[in-house]
Order: sequence, then C-alpha cells, then structure tokens
Amino acid sequence: METNKVKTKKVGICRREILVPEIKGSFKQIIQKAELGKLSLTDGDIKSGIRSSLRELWRASTRAVFLEGIRRETLIEGKHRLSVKCKECKRVMWIGAKERVKLKNGKLSKKAKSVFQVDHVHGCHPFTEYEDLGKFAKDLFHGELRVLCYSCHQSHTDKQSKAKRS
Ligand SMILES: [Zn+2]
Repeated sequence: METNKVKTKKVGICRREILVPEIKGSFKQIIQKAELGKLSLTDGDIKSGIRSSLRELWRASTRAVFLEGIRRETLIEGKHRLSVKCKECKRVMWIGAKERVKLKNGKLSKKAKSVFQVDHVHGCHPFTEYEDLGKFAKDLFHGELRVLCYSCHQSHTDKQSKAKRS
C-alpha cells in the first residue's frame, strides 16, 4: 500500500506529521486508523497527553468552581458584566474578554487570548517522572488559585522559571 504524508493538526495526544497508508474516507477515519496502532507514541507524548488531559479536567472542574466563586457583576463600559480582578495590578476584567497579548518576543499574538489566567499560587510539582504524577495532580486540583491578568501572569511565570534555573 502506498503511503501518503498527511499533515495533521492534532492526532490524539501528539501533534506531528505522520505517515499513514492512503485510506479512502474522511479525514477523521484516517486519524482513527492512525490512532489504532499506526502511530508509535513516545514516553514524552504519553506524559504530555496525561498533563494536558488533567489540565482539561482541571479547567472544567476546580478552575470553573473557583471562578464561579469569585466573579462579580461589575459595570464595565456601561454594561453589567461578570468580572474578575487581577490579584497583582487590580485590573478588573470581563470574564469573556479576549485581546491580542504581547508575546515574549515583543510582538502581539496573532489570536486574541483570554485577558486573565487562573494561576497556581505555589505552582505545580513538575510531572517528569511517573512517580511525580500524584504530586502534580494534587497541586493541580488542590493548589491555591488566584486570578492574574495576562501580563502579570507572564512576568510571574518568568520569575518562577528563572528561580528554578538558578
Ligand atoms: Zn495584572
């Protein structure tokens, strides 16, 4: 069977170009075939898959409950809107607001992103070895949370990673 290079946006838990046999049918079926064993997953793929699945679950559970508890109705641009406040700079932000944000390279992001981020005050235990998974999950789901605006969150995570490196 001839193989065709199929560029995929996202295949299961990994993002990469894959070689799959030419299959008639929808793109979805191709992906399903790929997932059923045509792809070899590396250990890194599996770990990043676990990480992103848990983050997704966190977004839908702990994070959602947290936001529900702290959001307030505020008058923003003449409208009553549910909003949150940045713990650092006290900026009040509408929960649904998105804007293009300044990236590390100084350019604006192509896509508009949420203006605020829910941050783990004490960070999360890094999940690099399977033995760390429990600690990572505990921090992720039970760690103290706060709202930061995008730029305060950026400078905070920059500081955190600098501290880790030194
Ligand atoms: Zn801020």
